[in-house]
Amino acid sequence: GYRSRSAYKLQQLDDRFDILFGGASVVDLGAAPGGWLQVAAERVGARGKVVGVDFQSISHFETDAGLETVRGDMTTEETREHVRTAANGSADVVISDMAPNMTGEYDLDHARSVHLARQALDTARELLDAGGHFVVKVFDGRDFQGFLADVEDEFAFVATNSPDASRDASSELYVVGKNRIVAPVAEGD
Ligand code: SAM
Repeated sequence: GYRSRSAYKLQQLDDRFDILFGGASVVDLGAAPGGWLQVAAERVGARGKVVGVDFQSISHFETDAGLETVRGDMTTEETREHVRTAANGSADVVISDMAPNMTGEYDLDHARSVHLARQALDTARELLDAGGHFVVKVFDGRDFQGFLADVEDEFAFVATNSPDASRDASSELYVVGKNRIVAPVAEGD
């Protein structure tokens, strides 16, 4: 079994959008307790690698894939630097299930969620090469469309999904960005 019910959400997203592949290197933000990491490790296989980060500890598990964990807060530059190092500076896929501690105050929870989603998008910009994929959780609300537009600037294909496994949490959405667009760097003379 998996460590979290969230694991099934990633399975569903991957079955539908084809994000994970054999040999891929995956960076998983907000990875504790490790359900998404388990699914990602299975699907990238022995030639693949998964890096999980969370400010909660993530215990290691038996896997053929490379597995590294980073403990820290993704809103700090220190942790982001650790993640870049653990990933050797690049990734094929960045996934984020980060969520704020819920206060029950809708606007505040939404704003915090969008802030975390933007951290994840920044990490995707830093680590993904052309063609890389991105999945991010975000709570719906007034800043959602602005965030979505920023994802659309970076990826050739973007979709918004509410996986079956999360139907009970109606404001929780996943944004999928496929095939990162990287403008060619002009050659100097
Ligand atoms: N995908 C995970 C799984 O399948 O096991 C579940 C993730 S849980 C829904 C959200 C996680 O985001 C929590 O473990 C929380 O600690 C983490 N998180 C929230 N804000 C964070 C931040 N700023 N930096 C790192 N992790 C964060």
